[in-house]
Amino acid sequence: MIYLDNNATTKVDEKVLNEMLPYLRDEYANASSMYSFASKPAKALQEARAQIRDFVGAKDEKEIYFTSCGSESANTAIKGVVNCNKEKRHLITTKIEHPCVLNTYKELEKQGYEVDYIGVNAQGDLNISELTEKLRKDTALVSVMWANNETGVINPVEEIAEIIKSRSPQTKFFVDGVQSAGKIQMNVKDTKIDLLGISGHKFHAPKGVGALYVNSSTRLTSLINGGHQERGLRAGTENVPYIVGMGKAATLASDALEYELKEVKRLRDKLENGILRNVYNSRLNANLLNRVPNTTNIGFEYVEGELILLHLSDLGICASSGSACTSGSLEPSHVLRAMGVPFTALHGSIRFSLSRFTTEKEVDFVIEKMPEIMDKLTKISPFQDELKKLREIKKGE
Ligand code: PLP
Repeated sequence: MIYLDNNATTKVDEKVLNEMLPYLRDEYANASSMYSFASKPAKALQEARAQIRDFVGAKDEKEIYFTSCGSESANTAIKGVVNCNKEKRHLITTKIEHPCVLNTYKELEKQGYEVDYIGVNAQGDLNISELTEKLRKDTALVSVMWANNETGVINPVEEIAEIIKSRSPQTKFFVDGVQSAGKIQMNVKDTKIDLLGISGHKFHAPKGVGALYVNSSTRLTSLINGGHQERGLRAGTENVPYIVGMGKAATLASDALEYELKEVKRLRDKLENGILRNVYNSRLNANLLNRVPNTTNIGFEYVEGELILLHLSDLGICASSGSACTSGSLEPSHVLRAMGVPFTALHGSIRFSLSRFTTEKEVDFVIEKMPEIMDKLTKISPFQDELKKLREIKKGE
């Protein structure tokens, strides 16, 4: 099996699992209990909070709240800010956010909020001047993802934070950091970002644990009411083993960042160049230079993405297509549509996302197999004339 779908989820690092096991097996006390049996889980929770503080570059561990996933972090941030600023009725986000942000905004729109969705160019870069123009004194919240999950394109969130605070200081800024965590350096204390969400399973911790950074000047209402865990923001007995796992995973990801930026990027570039060179109907969907190191999104013109995935899967290769099967119809990716990717490549776009566990041998195998798969699929494509033209253009290059 060759796993190249690390933006969907990642394998749990052995070291993370080993760190978690004592808290699943023996140290099962409720971390909020008074007896000494609870002191180890309570201490582990504290330690994990400090590890996440360092991972996102926050000032204080009091700014870190544990959640169950990236979606919960985003929902807590967005709904929490909006509920604390009821007099402000305007919101901004981008057209390329993850559904956990987009659908939360859509729900608020139904409740009467006015929302501006900012567009991107053909390379996936955000239109910053559009965002600047849309900012208003009654903008309660702006949400922009740090890195896009489909293309890997990085948004200049530090610069956006500066723009927001200089024009409308009371507007809060939430950054979905789920796809930047472990792939680029994040240092929220040096920025004007108010809130940042991350998710453990995207950086080799298990599924079911996430975190939300909230700077000390931002007030939120809670999504889950109950006990006073997480200082009243998020009720529910703390999931100590998973939180411990995420803390360890964060430390490992920080240690591996240099490798990620150099080696993972080298393998990603090798894979990408190998495919773009050897497959004549392929094109890159992203800004070549402004991406997280592990992601490539390649459009294969005049073929169906689902067929490519099935052929890859037959060879044991896991990748993903931008399209989601909703209500029985194949919807092309909202991100690629926002970029204006031509319809000829929209349905045949594939995301390969690597990790620090990806090997050179795996990359070489995919480079070798991709032209063979494409050879089969282009032969059955109904667009033979168009493919012939493409082949000739490629030959002439
Ligand atoms: N934000 C981005 C950019 C993502 O890629 C994802 C997951 O794919 C999420 C949020 C949601 O994270 P989770 O699956 O932990 O809810």
